[in-house]
Amino acid sequence: MSAKGLAAIARKFHEPLSIEEMQFPDPAPNEVLVKMIVSGVCHTDLHAVNGDWPIQPPLPFVPGHEGVGIVVQAGSAVKNLKEGDRVGLPWLHQACGYCEWCLSGWETLCPKAVFGGYSANGSFAEYAIASAAYAIPIPADLSSKAAAPILCAGVTTWKALKQAELQAGNWVAISGIGGLGHLAIQYAQAMGLNIAAIDVADDKLALARSLQANLVIDARKTDPAEFLQQKIGGAHGVILTAPSQAAFREGLGMTRRKGTCVLVGLPAGDLPIPIFDMILRGITLRGSLVGTRNDQVEALSFASHAQVIAEIHLRPFREVNEALTGLANAKVTGRTVLTFE
Ligand code: NAD
Ligand code: ZN
Ligand code: ZN
Repeated sequence: MSAKGLAAIARKFHEPLSIEEMQFPDPAPNEVLVKMIVSGVCHTDLHAVNGDWPIQPPLPFVPGHEGVGIVVQAGSAVKNLKEGDRVGLPWLHQACGYCEWCLSGWETLCPKAVFGGYSANGSFAEYAIASAAYAIPIPADLSSKAAAPILCAGVTTWKALKQAELQAGNWVAISGIGGLGHLAIQYAQAMGLNIAAIDVADDKLALARSLQANLVIDARKTDPAEFLQQKIGGAHGVILTAPSQAAFREGLGMTRRKGTCVLVGLPAGDLPIPIFDMILRGITLRGSLVGTRNDQVEALSFASHAQVIAEIHLRPFREVNEALTGLANAKVTGRTVLTFE
């Protein structure tokens, strides 16, 4: 079988994706060809299309790493999937499987990892190639559109919360209540945490309120660090998801003595670290990158039990550029999910 279909291709940074007919390769022995049903649109796709980060994706490429589709062709050596299976195409397209990090349950940190929609073509296309071992089986009782945002926004915040090493009853501050943050609130609730939600946009603050975050802080009006130190003595864990340097500057200040501040959002640039303050207050600062295949199973399970429900806005695939512009202008509440015919 040889598949032809539309793909949204980044040919130049900072330019709209070009929607073109593309010939998709046959899967290699360990790969599957997937026909896309839906794909979430992550803020990372916007960073990728703009070439924001020190390591840029090689042009041209197809972005997208929250794809859900059906296996239409399996490579000759594939044993774990067959035609007709429904799978997710996540950020971790492939890892080596034998390095120190792959062997110790940290495959996302594999130095040879390939990233979907970045260093491999992703899910903004009618078809995509997945590495069979790294495609994520979607639980039968979860719809494709509900599953898509879990594959990045969900698993990333679930993993970040686990990495904050919190206990039920602790406070977590979640800065940035976008695609990631609105799911972080729900995972944190499932973990029995108290939640302070911080954002700078009215619709995101309203979403945090409707999700019943315990404290909702508008960072345009209130300094979240000062407020949280005074009100609760700082949060035991802080999850920074906003793609904003300003939000990161507030992060350590929001953290309680001995607490953990987890960096998740990826604004371009660097930040100075207040060494004295961090040492005297015993703060842990930690980076967190998406989640492993096992984290995906856990994150999807919360969704299939309706403990975590993404707020989604469906758009036809052809409107992918409008979806990205909406993200750039902070006009998306929850997650945009592209639908394919
Ligand atoms: P999004 O655009 O849906 O949400 C961002 C939110 O941050 C919005 O609600 C926005 O209003 C809010 N915000 C902006 N400035 C703020 C400020 N100063 N204070 C508080 N909130 C502020 O984006 P998203 O899809 O949720 O992605 C967020 C970031 O996470 C991006 O940088 C993305 O690349 C990154 N990301 C990282 C990982 C990882 O593994 N570490 C995975 C996925 C996404
Ligand atoms: Zn993402
Ligand atoms: Zn490896």
